[in-house]
Amino acid sequence: MTNHTETWKQVLTSLSAKIKKTDFLVWFQDTNILDVKSDAVVIGLPSIFAEEWFKKKYVDFIRDSLKEINLPTQINFVTDSSLANEGGVDLRAFFNQKPRKPRKIVASQNAQVLDIPEVKKAPVPKNIYATETRTVNITLNPKYSLHNFVVGSNSRLAHAACCAVAKKPGMAYNPLFIYGDVGLGKTHLLQATGNAISRRPNSNYVAYVTAEKFTNEIVESIKKNSVRAFRNKYRNVDCLIIDDIQFLAGKGRTQEEFFHTFNELYHANKQIIISSDKPPKDLSGVESRLVSRFEMGMIVDVTFPDYETCLAILLKKSAELDVLIPSDVLEYIASNLHSSIRELEGILVQVVAQSQLEGILPSIDSVTRLLTKLGKITPSANFQLSSEEKVGSLKSITEVIDFIAKFFNLTPDDLTGVKRSRDIMIPRQICIYILRYDYQVSFEKIGQELGGRNHTTAMHAYNKVKKQLRRDHKLLQNVNEIRKLIGL
Ligand code: ADP
Ligand code: MG
Repeated sequence: MTNHTETWKQVLTSLSAKIKKTDFLVWFQDTNILDVKSDAVVIGLPSIFAEEWFKKKYVDFIRDSLKEINLPTQINFVTDSSLANEGGVDLRAFFNQKPRKPRKIVASQNAQVLDIPEVKKAPVPKNIYATETRTVNITLNPKYSLHNFVVGSNSRLAHAACCAVAKKPGMAYNPLFIYGDVGLGKTHLLQATGNAISRRPNSNYVAYVTAEKFTNEIVESIKKNSVRAFRNKYRNVDCLIIDDIQFLAGKGRTQEEFFHTFNELYHANKQIIISSDKPPKDLSGVESRLVSRFEMGMIVDVTFPDYETCLAILLKKSAELDVLIPSDVLEYIASNLHSSIRELEGILVQVVAQSQLEGILPSIDSVTRLLTKLGKITPSANFQLSSEEKVGSLKSITEVIDFIAKFFNLTPDDLTGVKRSRDIMIPRQICIYILRYDYQVSFEKIGQELGGRNHTTAMHAYNKVKKQLRRDHKLLQNVNEIRKLIGL
């Protein structure tokens, strides 16, 4: 905080109405006015990246807002990394009382936390940490919490079940069985629930163990003749969490041991939480008596999240990493990766590392290069325009139609005409989509300009592309490439 914080809040109030919310929350965190001189205002930014970005994107907006409150409009940006440690102004407060503005990205009801990226860094996790009452075991990593798990439709049930279990361990759902492909947040949920339970006043011991480690410990204990100690360890817990139970397939002795541990805990109303890459009934190589026990409680799955949830996860992770990444870059990453959240996170880390190494702000271009190098996307073969034709911005609907026709090696008449072959239909639909989404042209107008079509045809094409973009990499690439070339 500085002496000018109140003034800066006035500026921020004005800016919050002009700048897209997600950008505002990411970029204006940890900023402040450091000094007001007779002819200039000194604005402090937390990083050199931010300075570059502000000069490019926000300087005019800030100048206008300064003018509105009669401050000098000359701006000097200064990088001051200590701003990042000071807590800053709570940016979310600027949106609380206002009606929602339409956003550029299409929102769904699925992503819950899109609007609240937490820009403050979480405390650095330590191996052993203290709760109010005691020191808790080291197998739980405090970095995982139920709060920093981003809930989407893909994980809503699993998250709710974990919250219920954390509230009433041993009573709500027992066992709780979570399954899903790799990298979709199972370990996160398990650990988070374990953390929550271990913080309860009466909980003594929460054991988190992977099925692999559990197996190794049994083998060791048999070798060392210490099976009793092993049993004591796992049969005296308040909550047992076993991750990746599929690892027990075919391991008869471990399954036997686990079966007895399970029964003992279950009958003592102790909570058991299990994760797996498949539902219990598909766990081949696991004894049916175990499978039937897994089926006694609650079984929930996690799947790959939708676009908005991916974006919310990326925002959250970049906030945790304490880095500022332009929202169009995050949107681009979210649109192009579809296999696991771990992959999404991995790419984000690489993007950050690359940009820090090269000293430049991540851009769609640099991310495209990275994703291409990693084989995550294939370069588009469609582009036919020479670099001189990369237009800054197109002014009229006709220009957009001409441009998109050329991009696909077609004539404008092809797009406005009646031919319904696939190689013309898809570019026509893309054209409709871009006119609507990026230029906000009405469906009536789009219909008229594209050969006098009915507005419902335009609407139908728009919705089709919008839906398809989530699944079709090629389509997404084309749309992104066109946008990039147009300078959108
Ligand atoms: P799994 O155990 O299913 O293979 P993890 O729990 O290890 O997956 O998740 C991989 C990474 O993705 C972790 O860093 C985790 O924090 C992160 N992650 C997964 N889902 C979410 C989510 N919904 N919100 C925030 N982070 C998530
Ligand atoms: Mg895991």
